[in-house]
Amino acid sequence: MNTWESGGYRFDTGPSLITMPWVFEALFEAAGTRMSDHLTFQSVHPFAEYHFDDGTHFTHTGDLPAWLTTVRALEQNDASGFLRFMELGARLFNVSQATFFSRSPFERPNCQIIRALRHLPLRFGWGNYDRTVRHFFRSPHLRQLFNRYITYVGSSPYQAPATLSVIPYVEYAFGVRHIQGGLYRMIEVLCALGEKEGVEYRMNTPIRSIMRRGGRVIGVEPEKGPLIEADVVIMNGDASCAPVLLGESGAQPLPERNRSMSGLIFLYALKRTLPDLSHHQIFFSADYPTEFRQLFDERRFPDDPTVYINIPSRTDRSLVPGEGEVLFVMANAPANDGDTWDDAMIKQARTHVMQRLRKSGFPDIEQDISASTVWTPRKMAMQYGMPGGAIYGQASHSWRGAFMRPPNKDRSVAGLYYVGGSTHPGGGTPTVVMSADITSRLVEQYESS
Ligand SMILES: Cc1cc2nc3c(=O)[nH]c(=O)nc-3n(C[C@H](O)[C@H](O)[C@H](O)COP(=O)(O)OP(=O)(O)OC[C@H]3O[C@@H](n4cnc5c(N)ncnc54)[C@H](O)[C@@H]3O)c2cc1C
Repeated sequence: MNTWESGGYRFDTGPSLITMPWVFEALFEAAGTRMSDHLTFQSVHPFAEYHFDDGTHFTHTGDLPAWLTTVRALEQNDASGFLRFMELGARLFNVSQATFFSRSPFERPNCQIIRALRHLPLRFGWGNYDRTVRHFFRSPHLRQLFNRYITYVGSSPYQAPATLSVIPYVEYAFGVRHIQGGLYRMIEVLCALGEKEGVEYRMNTPIRSIMRRGGRVIGVEPEKGPLIEADVVIMNGDASCAPVLLGESGAQPLPERNRSMSGLIFLYALKRTLPDLSHHQIFFSADYPTEFRQLFDERRFPDDPTVYINIPSRTDRSLVPGEGEVLFVMANAPANDGDTWDDAMIKQARTHVMQRLRKSGFPDIEQDISASTVWTPRKMAMQYGMPGGAIYGQASHSWRGAFMRPPNKDRSVAGLYYVGGSTHPGGGTPTVVMSADITSRLVEQYESS
């Protein structure tokens, strides 16, 4: 989560939607306060407008009767397919709540876990995600729509396990939220609360090494300045970088082939108001399998990228100085070490993005842009220490990739713990907070004596 501001236009540079708000409410409660005293969560209606290459266009809404009418118009039988797909997601969600979301995978299972696992839907919940989507939907448009949810964890629907059907269920069942003033308000508020509780922040202090003695951490060494001593170290950077920071010989961060995707993001401050557009817009590529083949196999920016446009100012006018809009335009990109993302590369990728938008009938905005900036995979890699700018650490490909993520406690170094999107249970803002909860409990369990 990060922010950028220009001429009174305020942007989020990372997340654009929040799900599972109760996870954040619990975090505020743990800090002895109520979230609603600090932040206003706004429900986003409709969820999104979808635009397809063949000119098909429809609204994805949380209003079930209206949505089922849309689904039936696309393909009569898919209405029951949608309900059965949601039922599968609900069963997976209920199992996840008691297991994956609340515990480290290496904790010994108790009776409650074993009881929950008995309800794991093995049929369709276990195989390949795209195959499961094809089982429930015949409409090519709905197949593309539901396949896109796997990009929420930076992965390919053609390689991910069907267990991730929990993602579209969570969005449909519990809705999509925006935070008034921008999602970055969450960070500002949490930092202020932490300060009140005595947390001391050292900003812009890159850590070069995690120091240990006799199999136990003793602190961290910044790039500049002396050792910061500590009994416990919790690493929030990409967990695959830990062996490098520990100075293990031959250690390398996550290899390219195992990485989740990065993104190319253009932020545009627009002088013109776009009242006909809604908060979330998706402009699909003509050929989704080819797009993912180019991203993951050929490891290049797609010729025809699916483009996501987030216009939070459609819901929240506090983000703009009066007239106008803030536009967050994103396409998926591979997380490669060698990509320079110089001006020529950005220009070429932007041409592909704009071609897709033009083809899908998005209004011409070039003359209305008053300020802009770009976030490339390289910039994310450098700013956040993510290998190649991989937003979600390892890709959620195969059951192992999705569910056997780096654990929250180091297996061999005492006092060293991990938290955040690259670890268990995975990326996305609510999941990262769940990760913090799991890690906190592990620290209490192992360090309190
Ligand atoms: C473009 C984009 C869109 C997204 N969209 C959504 C969305 O719509 N909804 C959603 O829920 N999630 C979304 N996400 C994912 C979500 O933002 C992340 O999963 C989450 O914020 C990760 O939190 P974290 O604490 O794990 O990592 P971060 O917030 O990245 O924190 C890790 C911190 O560690 C620092 N660090 C790393 N290495 C070192 C070191 N050696 N020394 C010192 N500091 C170090 C980094 O600089 C960084 O500040 C999106 C992310 C991006 C980038």
